[in-house]
This record gives sequence, C-alpha cells and structure tokens, in this order.
Amino acid sequence: MSDPTRRTAAELADALASGETSSVELTRAHLDRIAAVDGDVHAFLQVDAEGALAAARASDERRAAGTPASVLDGVPIAVKDVLATEGLPTTCGSRILEGWVPPYDATVVARLRQAGLPILGKTNMDEFAMGSSTEHSAYGPTHNPWDLSRIPGGSGGGSAAAVAAFEAPLAIGTDTGGSIRQPGAVTGTVGVKPTYGGVSRYGLVSLANSLDQAGPVTRTVLDAALLHEVVGGHDPLDSTSIDQPLPALVEAARQGASGDLSGVRLGVVKELTGEGYQAGVQQRFDEAVQLLVGAGAEVVEVSCPTFVHALATYYLILPAEASSNLARFDAMRYGLRVYPDGVDAPSAEEVMRATRDVGFGDEVKRRIILGTYALSSGYYDAYYGQAQKVRTLVGRDFATAFEKADVLLSPTAPTTAFKIGEKVDDPLAMYLNDLATIPANLAGVPGISVPSGLADEDGLPTGLQVLAPATADDRVYRIGAAAERLLLEKWGGPLLDRAPDLAGASA
Ligand code: GLN
Repeated sequence: MSDPTRRTAAELADALASGETSSVELTRAHLDRIAAVDGDVHAFLQVDAEGALAAARASDERRAAGTPASVLDGVPIAVKDVLATEGLPTTCGSRILEGWVPPYDATVVARLRQAGLPILGKTNMDEFAMGSSTEHSAYGPTHNPWDLSRIPGGSGGGSAAAVAAFEAPLAIGTDTGGSIRQPGAVTGTVGVKPTYGGVSRYGLVSLANSLDQAGPVTRTVLDAALLHEVVGGHDPLDSTSIDQPLPALVEAARQGASGDLSGVRLGVVKELTGEGYQAGVQQRFDEAVQLLVGAGAEVVEVSCPTFVHALATYYLILPAEASSNLARFDAMRYGLRVYPDGVDAPSAEEVMRATRDVGFGDEVKRRIILGTYALSSGYYDAYYGQAQKVRTLVGRDFATAFEKADVLLSPTAPTTAFKIGEKVDDPLAMYLNDLATIPANLAGVPGISVPSGLADEDGLPTGLQVLAPATADDRVYRIGAAAERLLLEKWGGPLLDRAPDLAGASA
C-alpha cells in the first residue's frame, strides 16, 4: 500500500476491511514515522511500540476471522497524556506525576481498546492542560509541523502536532477552554469539543470538571465523526454523562459533504470577529462564510453581549475548580515524593510542600493561588459567585442566538501559530488565544474547528469554528463537513499537503 501515514482514518478502515493492508503494517508505518520525525516535533511523551503492535496483531486476527470489533478496528491512535492508561505512564505534562502508572483505563481509552484501535503512545500537553502553546509542559515544548520554531497550540499541542505531522491518523484531545479546537486551528487539523457530558470524563485527570470534555483530533471531519462515535455515549462511571444516544454523527458528516445547505441559518457572532483577530484569520473566515452561503445557507448576524466577559469568567471558574482538583497531589498517593532538605523526620505537610514546590510549574502555581483566592470566604461572592452568574448569562446568550440560527460561526483562534517563547512569560497574552473557544465550554455546547485556509501574511493555517446547541453535535459535523468540502475545492486539496515534509529534517 502507498504510504499509509498519508491516508485518512476512513481510508485506512476501508483498506483494512478489503484486506488491502493489515493493522500491523499500518501501525509499523506510523511507528516508523514517529521515529523519523518526532525528534523534531516532540508530539509524544511516551511511545508504546510493543503495546501498539500487540493490539495490531489482535486486530488482524479479528479481521481474518471476519469479526472486526468496530469500523476503526486496527487503525492506530495517539492519546493525550491526561487520560489514564492502564500500565502506561500518565503524566499530564507534569513532574508531579512522573513515574505514575495508572492501574486502570479511562473510559475513553477502554472504548478505544474495545474498538480495536492500537494506542501508539501518549501525547505532550501543557501541564495539567493549562495553556495554549504546549510550552508549559514540564517535558519541553511540542513544535508545530508547519514551522518548527512555532507553537502547535495548547494545551493539546501534542495530539494536534502528531496528526498534522502524519505520526498518527487519529488522536484524542481534551478541551476545557479550547485545547482541542485552538491547536486544530493553528496546525491545520480538525478538532471537536463534544457537548459537555457527551464523552465520559471517567479517568480523565480533571482540570476543571464542569468544563472538561475529551474529543477527536483528526485530519478530516468524517474521521472525527467516526472516532466520536467510538468514544462517545453514556457512561455510568461518569455522573455527568448524558444518558441518551449520540446523534448520528457519521451520517451527518456524510450528508454535509454531499448535500446543499438550503434552509440552514448560520449565525455570525458579532462579538467573536473583527477587533483582536489577525487580518488573514478574519479574511479566511469571511471567505468560508461566503462559501457556505454559496451552498444555500443564509447568514444572520447574532449578538452575544456577555461573550466579552467569558474570558474573565473562565479565569475565575477554572482556577477555582483546578485548585480544588490539584489538592489530590499530596506526595502520598501518586508519582513524585520529595523530602525537604535538612529536615529530620519531616511531617506529611512538609513533604507535601516540598513535593508541590518542585512538582508543579509556575502556571499551575499561579492558578492554584488565583483559585484559592477566588474561593476564600471574604471574596467568594465578589469573584467565584459573580463568575457563576455571568456563566448563566453566557448560556442565555447562546439560547437566544440559537433561536435565530442553527449554528454559530467564528474564527477558532484570533491568530495563527506564534513563535515559541513569544508569549510564554505573558499569561494574559496567552489567555487571549481562547477568546473565541471559551464561551462553548462555559455553556457546555459542542464545537468543531475546521481548517479554513492559510493566512496571507504568514502562510500559516487558521480555523473556522462551528458551534451548535447542546446535544446537537450532528450539526457541527454537518456544517463542518460542508465547509471542509467547499474549502478543499477552493484550495485545490488538503492544506496539510502544503506543510513541509519533515522526514529527514533531523537526520
Ligand atoms: N488555554 C486554556 C487554558 O489555559 C484552555 C485549556 C484547555 O482547554 N485545557 O486554560
């Protein structure tokens, strides 16, 4: 088979079904690609060649017996290092979890294994998923395959870069404020944040429980839908999991790719365009909207006035929840344990302090301080309480907007990929990357980022975001696939074909 790493997951699944290739062949090809390019990209924290090949052999046996476990049986995948994997280290990009090997699988991981997808390894991320560039990983940054001196987005830069660099056809990310969609936008890949509760959080190390969602990272909308159907759906182990069937996502993606869009109302969110968005990003967005209109859709301008407060709201709620979640890293239960220097028989508290001092990076400490402050008794009403009220208003703005429009559109991220080192010491500049993605997390609604083209000023990829009402994830796939097809025509093929070929770069 011609280079399997260049094929989509849907094509690989077909090739497996027809017997044209084997899972062992596909898995080997991806492991070879990782060996060739990951020294430069650093998308992976951990590669599990042995485990992946064992899973591939088992998959080939099922295919030979005519009993594949799923459509994607045998197609390899990479998993963000924030999901627990039994027997495989899980660090969350933090020193504090160095050496921790989970005794169980996250539900998402268990479903991948049940469906027969070999797990290639664990991908790099900002520490505990805090960041927009993957520079806050304790294990060093990931590099954007489009330009190795630039960031791949974050926190899930490893998953996006792995898929963009053809190291994996599929990956899993998590999105608390944009960490699937923003890396998708800046690497020219597709990322989906499902409806809150649509994909189990069991075994996903919590950043902020009320915002976190795992979802697909892929090169096409159809691949994302195929993966979403494998990992999504009700899980009794997650009390916030939605107890109803997923909509027909693959069908919606296929329909979007072929059908016309007459009768579809697209809402362009006034507050998520214009000022603050790079000119080339805005231009590609406007063109994408015009293409959708050309396919029969109607555009309405919608206003969501509270979205301008979404970032501030998020940076109270997220640190509050994170500070509480991170209390579990007490030097006793998981990973790292550091004894204070020069103290005989230190107390548990002294060991905890020494461990957390060394084990957590600056961004994590910053947010713990912010969160505990926002929750402290004298300030609770002024900060956390207020933020919760604004969160309700953001949800109401969405509800009003969805009365006028079937989906909402915006650019996914305000800029293309910036240089490594450019914003890492400026938390506010870093936080602004999630301007357009955070409202969806606050309201629990689903969103997709689809590559919308290359910005004129720097030739780097940018993304179109499509948001839909909660549980209507099928709409993001339908409109996402329609936009993808129209943009493929406009650009004369996949954007990633224009990215530099990294093989041999370091050799
Ligand atoms: N960049 C955002 C943050 O730093 C979003 C992170 C995420 O979605 N995990 O919190």
